[in-house]
Amino acid sequence: TSIKHPDLKRGPYKKLETKDVDYFHRILSKNQVVTETDPYNIDFFNLYRGSSKLCLFPTSTRQVSSILQYCNEQKLAVVPQGGNTGVSGGSIAVFDEIVVNTSKLNQVRSFDAISGIAVVDAGMVLEALDQYVAPLGYTVPLDLGAKGSCQLGGNVSTNAGGLRLMRFGNLHGNVLGLEVVLPDGTILDGLSALRKDNTGYDLKQLFIGAEGTLGIVTGVSLLTPKRAQSTNVAMIALDSFEHVQQAYVSARDELSEILSAFEFWDHDSVQLVQKTMLQGQSYPLEAKKPFYALLETQGSREEHDMEKLEAYLEKGMTQGVIQDGVLAQDSTQLTGLWQWREKIPEAITRSGTAMTYDVAMDIRLFPQMVTDVKAHFEERGLLGSRYSNIIGFGHVGDGNLHIMANMEGFDQHGQEEFDEFVFNWAIEHQGSISAEHGIGIHKIDYMTRCKNPVQLALMRKIKTAFDKNGIMNPYKVIPF
Ligand code: FAD
Repeated sequence: TSIKHPDLKRGPYKKLETKDVDYFHRILSKNQVVTETDPYNIDFFNLYRGSSKLCLFPTSTRQVSSILQYCNEQKLAVVPQGGNTGVSGGSIAVFDEIVVNTSKLNQVRSFDAISGIAVVDAGMVLEALDQYVAPLGYTVPLDLGAKGSCQLGGNVSTNAGGLRLMRFGNLHGNVLGLEVVLPDGTILDGLSALRKDNTGYDLKQLFIGAEGTLGIVTGVSLLTPKRAQSTNVAMIALDSFEHVQQAYVSARDELSEILSAFEFWDHDSVQLVQKTMLQGQSYPLEAKKPFYALLETQGSREEHDMEKLEAYLEKGMTQGVIQDGVLAQDSTQLTGLWQWREKIPEAITRSGTAMTYDVAMDIRLFPQMVTDVKAHFEERGLLGSRYSNIIGFGHVGDGNLHIMANMEGFDQHGQEEFDEFVFNWAIEHQGSISAEHGIGIHKIDYMTRCKNPVQLALMRKIKTAFDKNGIMNPYKVIPF
C-alpha cells in the first residue's frame, strides 16, 4: 500500500522497450544499468511506491547528458534520485519513469582552502563532504538528520533547510554555482566560484528547490563556512510556549553572533523517543514540562562562549522563563543532548506508519496548530484509533514547525484527511505548506490553493522553456 493519486493518468510517455535497455547497456557499464529496481522504488518513510523498471547510475556529467538526450528523443520520462531521503515522494517514480540515481557521481572536484569554496559532484553525501572539509578547518553550511545518506544534489534540489539555517542561511545564498544537465542533454556549466556575480539572470536559483523538474544537477559549487573552534549546547525546559518565544528572543539578544541553532520539541516527542529509540536512557531534564529547547552556540573561544551561555541560562532561570537547564560539559554530552532532538523523526517511523509535515508560519502559532490538530481528530473519535502520537517540534529560528503523527496501518483516506486539515490550517493562517521538504507528489493538490494563477502560469512557462516534452520528474511540483 502506498499513497496514490487515483485521478492521475500516466502521461503520453513511451513505455520502456528492450531496445532502450540495450542502448543504455551500450553507453554505460554493466553495474550502471540496474533492472532489479525494488530499493529505488520505495521512499525512506515507505509511503510511496513506484513501478520503475530501470535505474541508471551515471558516473560522469557526460553520461547524464547522453541518458537525458536519449530519453528526450524517445519521450521516456525520468526521475532524478539522490539519497532518496526526501519526504514528499519526489524521488520515486509515480508510474514507470526511469530512475537516474546520482550515487556514483560522488567526488570532490576541488576545494579552495582560502575561500572555503567546495566544488563537488552532486552525488556526494552531505556528511562525507563535512568530513572532507573538517580537517581543513571548514564545515558544511547545512546539517540535517539525514546527513549520512542525503546528497548535495538532493539538498540543492529540495532547498533543504535543517538545523543550522538560522546561522548560515539557506542554499539560495550558499550555492555559488551549479552544473546542470538540461532535459535535452545540454550541459549548463555554471560552476562559478565567485561570491559576487551580477551579470544578468541568476539562473542557478531556478534549480534550487526545483525538485528535479528542470534538469539533473551534476555539480555544486558551495560556500563552506569556517568550522567553529568551540561548540556548546544547552537543553532547557519551559512551561509554556510564550516562554519558548521569550527564551528565543533573549538567546538572540544575549548570544547573538554565536547562536547557531534553536530547536524546540514538545513533551509527547520526548516520550516517543524514550519509548522507541533511547530506551533505558534517562532524560537529561525533568521530563514533564510541556516544551523543551536546544540551543547551540558556535564561536571561536570556548571560555568566552561558555560564559555567555551560562549567563544566559542563569538570567532565564532567575526571570522564571527557563524552568530547568543543562549544559553539555564535553563532546559526548553534546552529542547526547542533540540526539533527543535528532531522533524524533526516526522515533515516529519506528512507531508505525509515519506522516510528516513541514509547515512554516508565525512562530506564535506553533502550539495552537498542534492543539487544533489534536482537538480536531479527538472530536471525531479518531485520536488513539486511526491516529496516534501527534507531536510538534522544529526549527524555531526559521519559523518552521514539524508536525508528525502515526497512522494505524496504511490508510489512504486517513492520510488525505490529515493532510487536508494540516495544509488548510497552514494556508488559512498565512503560512506555507512546505518550509523545507518541497511539494513532490505529496502536496501537489494544494498548489492551486497556495500559489496564485499568475505564479502558477509563470512556473508552467519556465517548466516548458526547459523541458518541452515534460520528461523531467513529471506529475511533481506543478499541477497541470
Ligand atoms: P532525494 O530524496 O533523492 O530527492 C529529493 C528530490 O530532489 C526529488 O524530487 C528528486 O527528484 C530531486 N533530486 C535529487 N537529486 C537530484 C539531482 N542531482 N538533480 C535534480 N534533482 C534531484 N530536510 C530538510 O530540509 N531539513 C531537515 O531537517 C530534514 N531532516 C530530515 C531527517 C530525516 C531523518 C530524513 C529521512 C529526512 C530529512 N529531511 C530534511 C528531508 C531530506 O533529507 C532532504 O529533503 C534532502 O535534501 C533530500 O536529499 P536526497 O539526496 O535524499 O534527495
